[in-house]
Amino acid sequence: MNTTLNYPLFVFLGPPGSGKGTLAQKLSKTLGIPHLSTGDLLRKFAEGSSELAQQVADLLQKGHLVPKEIFLDILHQKLESSDCQNGVVLDGFPRNFEQAKHLDALVEDPSKLVLINVQLPDEVIVQRLTGRRQCTACSKTYHIDFAPPHQDGICDDCKNPLGIRSDDQKEVILKRLAVFHTAFKDLLPFYHARPFWMNVDANHSPEECYQALMQKLENPAIAQYLEPYFTCMKETL
Ligand code: AMP
Repeated sequence: MNTTLNYPLFVFLGPPGSGKGTLAQKLSKTLGIPHLSTGDLLRKFAEGSSELAQQVADLLQKGHLVPKEIFLDILHQKLESSDCQNGVVLDGFPRNFEQAKHLDALVEDPSKLVLINVQLPDEVIVQRLTGRRQCTACSKTYHIDFAPPHQDGICDDCKNPLGIRSDDQKEVILKRLAVFHTAFKDLLPFYHARPFWMNVDANHSPEECYQALMQKLENPAIAQYLEPYFTCMKETL
């Protein structure tokens, strides 16, 4: 990728199943900028029939990270697309120290990355993920107990069928959590002293978590930088 990204980047960090995807989707709607979930990107890629697509599908199925040689190409193509030129809500990237260094090198001013660390204990995550359902078309997520769709098995928004992600089985979830914790040990010291680092406690309803996040984003230091977005945020709140 030759260009330097000089638009706002909201980076959601946190374990799989913490609800960071839901928060990222909401923020993306509020700000009117795309939600770029690297997991969704890779799942779409893995549906292809190429040998590479099958290789990615196998890695996803096992809960392993997709190697950078494959992953970065797919990510860069997306970041360079026309809909990603006014800001992006990143979800699932960076996932380790190497990817965080890569992101720093892509942006004009790394100190302006808005880093949102979503926190939730592992045992709550396992309970949440085993009940998760996802729209097979638009990727909107639901939970059979906590956030069911209006009609059983059907997406409220686009009316397509809901499915269970193949990596939402218990042993794969535990593997993904282990992968997350190992990588996060290096990410935390790299990021946590940055000016726009914030923690969000995800052990509440999605609405409560989102309100807490919005309050943090209204911090004057961030608001100053986000001014163009805040006008539209206030209108939609
Ligand atoms: P997620 O939907 O974010 O839980 O991601 C699902 C799966 O996609 C992960 O378990 C990885 O296999 C793969 N994946 C997502 N993001 C990345 C990334 N930044 N680097 C490598 N692999 C990734």
